[in-house]
Amino acid sequence: MQDHPRYPRQLDRIPHCWIDSAGQAGAGAARDLIDPATGQAFATYRDADGNQAGQAVASAKAALPGWADTPPAERAAALFRLATLLDQNADRLAAVESLNAGKPISQAKRDVRRAADYFRFYAGACDKLNGESIPLGPDQTAFTLLEPVGVTAHILPWNYPVSTLARGAAPALAAGSTVVAKPSELTPLTAILTAKLASEAGLPAGAFNVVTGAGETGAALASHRDVAHVTFTGSTATGRKIMQSASKPIAGTTLELGGKSPVVVLADADLDAAAAGVARGIFFNAGQVCAAGARLVCEASVHDALVDKVIAKAEAMTIGHGLDDPDMGPLISATQLERVQGFVDRAKAEGFTCVTGGSRIFPEKLSAGNFFAPTVIADVPAEAEIARQEVFGPVLATQKCHSADEALALANGTRFGLVAGIYTADTTQAMRFARKAEAGQVFVNGFLKGGDTVPFGGVKESGIGREKGLLGISAYCAVKSIVLNH
Ligand code: NAD
Repeated sequence: MQDHPRYPRQLDRIPHCWIDSAGQAGAGAARDLIDPATGQAFATYRDADGNQAGQAVASAKAALPGWADTPPAERAAALFRLATLLDQNADRLAAVESLNAGKPISQAKRDVRRAADYFRFYAGACDKLNGESIPLGPDQTAFTLLEPVGVTAHILPWNYPVSTLARGAAPALAAGSTVVAKPSELTPLTAILTAKLASEAGLPAGAFNVVTGAGETGAALASHRDVAHVTFTGSTATGRKIMQSASKPIAGTTLELGGKSPVVVLADADLDAAAAGVARGIFFNAGQVCAAGARLVCEASVHDALVDKVIAKAEAMTIGHGLDDPDMGPLISATQLERVQGFVDRAKAEGFTCVTGGSRIFPEKLSAGNFFAPTVIADVPAEAEIARQEVFGPVLATQKCHSADEALALANGTRFGLVAGIYTADTTQAMRFARKAEAGQVFVNGFLKGGDTVPFGGVKESGIGREKGLLGISAYCAVKSIVLNH
């Protein structure tokens, strides 16, 4: 591997899988982990093979009865300890995450804090999983129990590796279910480190396993007959395959998929606040955010003024290596860079105007990184590819409208339905939009606000099920109804 001060050699010593509370080397194909800011390999690991995926599920299955029967307060204590360990190891985890995913270190630190917070939040829920009683008259008593659903598989993306892991693993473990997680093959390290910390926190062997690898490993988990629920975060195309795989064992699925989320700005909005929300909504994490506000739908009378403000923000952004904590880091891979460039090139070829950015850039001393300039393509029609398809990069498409009704129609005009935002001074218009928007969550006068205790998920092709908040635990509980006749 490269000998570079940024690339601590101990990264090569992180095990490739965490099964039954022990590290293992992968038995499958070897893979280099690439620093997306330099294009250099900084560690090597091996994928799990099918046998190891099976071992992880078997370990989670064996751990299930003991973990399910652990008194809720003890389960909670272990999860609280894990949250504390994540906090104590935050600097190291964040450095690994920043290096591996390319994200600015301050954002990586925030992601680790969010992971700790998920474990803390769901630890607090362990002893509050109350069922209900159902009135059936004097001769019968009916009530429900929330039992652990069983072994759960968590198949994860590369854009928020550690926080997405915690988003699913924490509620699953709180419910008494056990976990086999498969991080993205591009960003496996923090998942393994988190599972290792879970063992240090006292979670029993087998409660929290991690296997690495690409789609094959994911498919092996999703179709395994001992997996009761599959939580998948990733692209809509893969989500469809997961549904098919999970149909073998008839496992439940939570699918958190892609988006092309609109941010509507009406003429009466505070344009400075809107510009800040729009720019952050699309340029944060280099636009590699499922809920990115990838479309600005703006009333024509304020469109140009607003776009000028967004351009000013785009052009003021610092861009560089994640560990140097710029505003924006690189895209995850050369493939992703090529994909983003392809979308922009095709939009230009269709005759649309790129008002800022539009191409790869090379920050100082980083001539081989996957950097793409913050980009705005202005005034595109609803049928344009750039207005319909998820780019997953720092590329904003703007659409003009002439009324709140037209804004709503444009906002709802794609096959996705993850989030939607609106900026307006008119509460009635905001509420009308919020009620009619085809999205799992709507943000009024502040995009992507609210945090991780608010339920999150999509409608249409953005997914099924909800994560985050108390609702996020329901996927990991099987409701059992008991009727006593007396
Ligand atoms: P991806 O679909 O390519 O991969 C996601 C995961 O699925 C990876 O771990 C991958 O190895 C695995 N996988 C691939 N093929 C598989 C198969 N056939 N069976 C089982 N597993 C398989 O997605 P990605 O490129 O890692 O992430 C980007 C996508 O994720 C974007 O579309 C983005 O919108 C979406 N995303 C959604 C959310 C959300 O919460 N809705 C959050 C983050 C990312």
